[in-house]
Amino acid sequence: MKTFELTRATDGAQAIASAAKSKTAQQGADIRFIAGGTTLIDLMKLNVETPQKLVDVTRLPLDKIDNLPDGGLSIGAMVRNSDLAHHPLVQKNYRVLSEAILSGATVQLRNMATTGGNLLQRTRCMYFRDTAMPCNKREPGSGCAAITGLNRGLAILGTSEHCIATNPSDMNVALAALEATIHIRGPKGERSIPIADFHLLPGNTPHRETVLEPGDLITHVTLPPPAPGSRSLYIKLRDRASYEFALASAAVVVTNSGGKVTRARVALGGVGTKPWRSPEAEAELTNQSASEEVFRRAAEVALHNAKPQSQNGFKVELAKRCLVYALKAATQAA
Ligand SMILES: Cc1cc2nc3c(=O)[nH]c(=O)nc-3n(C[C@H](O)[C@H](O)[C@H](O)COP(=O)(O)OP(=O)(O)OC[C@H]3O[C@@H](n4cnc5c(N)ncnc54)[C@H](O)[C@@H]3O)c2cc1C
Ligand code: SF4
Repeated sequence: MKTFELTRATDGAQAIASAAKSKTAQQGADIRFIAGGTTLIDLMKLNVETPQKLVDVTRLPLDKIDNLPDGGLSIGAMVRNSDLAHHPLVQKNYRVLSEAILSGATVQLRNMATTGGNLLQRTRCMYFRDTAMPCNKREPGSGCAAITGLNRGLAILGTSEHCIATNPSDMNVALAALEATIHIRGPKGERSIPIADFHLLPGNTPHRETVLEPGDLITHVTLPPPAPGSRSLYIKLRDRASYEFALASAAVVVTNSGGKVTRARVALGGVGTKPWRSPEAEAELTNQSASEEVFRRAAEVALHNAKPQSQNGFKVELAKRCLVYALKAATQAA
């Protein structure tokens, strides 16, 4: 690991001013915020991330979960994943979020990991993590070793000829189905970004993963009020039952009235280059009977544009079955 300078921020404005001097907030950043460190320190040990300066933001007063006047929820960027998953309001009104977080990593990691850090966790593509291999995301223009290499775990939706890396977060998939908004404070002031617009597709710039600019600090995430009568859940399919990333996952928020789906929000994980909301599946479900036939049709349209690579063709059917199972469970739950 390269040497670096560490400063502990107690004031948000100072932290932002310090990080604003970085040449980028994307891959290759020379100044980084550090929260739980469970992504960043890993990558620094591998020399994939080599910041010269870390700004520790864990002492900033961003660790609260608050009710909003409209019935929604505000989640501070420093809220630890464990605290969020076990919060009574999250378990009552946003079950999909609690389930998604608890399906990831381990207790110890979730005790360290923060909401802001989880939003920005990096891909688990093995070539990204290996500096001996070409990787456009780590080193723009060097090539993509995964496309002709080991790609079993990588993405089938939103890929480009330059990168097929999966966004590995479980939490992000639930936040996509819940239509979360990310709130940012930066050198130019505050702004709010719907999660659908926060992560970027790889295109020909896979090293740019989000809309963040130097100095941008995620302060909190808000959720709209739960849709009346809705049920939500998260299903994650993976090679082993714990300590493993998703091969395919589904987050669904469904309102079912008299055997009919009146409202649906659907997002997929483990298959997309970003948390994969499917408006096409939602349209296919809305005002249709809560039947397996309709769920299967929704799954077909959700995966319609899938582009499998040499080793991950199985993910197309796996993701469809995952979504059908999640929709059945959400509409049958007592
Ligand atoms: C062995 C292992 C297994 C795992 N398994 C899973 C899994 O199954 N599912 C899953 O979803 N995740 C899994 N994870 C990933 C884990 O959830 C993330 O590492 C964690 O959520 C990152 O949060 P952090 O606070 O530690 O981030 P950090 O490592 O501190 O930061 C990550 C990035 O976010 C930036 N950052 C942090 N906070 C802010 C902020 N407020 N504003 C702007 N930028 C910020 C940092 O600069 C850094 O670039 C696993 C991790 C490990 C190590
Ligand atoms: S898939 Fe993306 S992250 Fe993986 S090697 Fe290719 S460019 Fe790098």
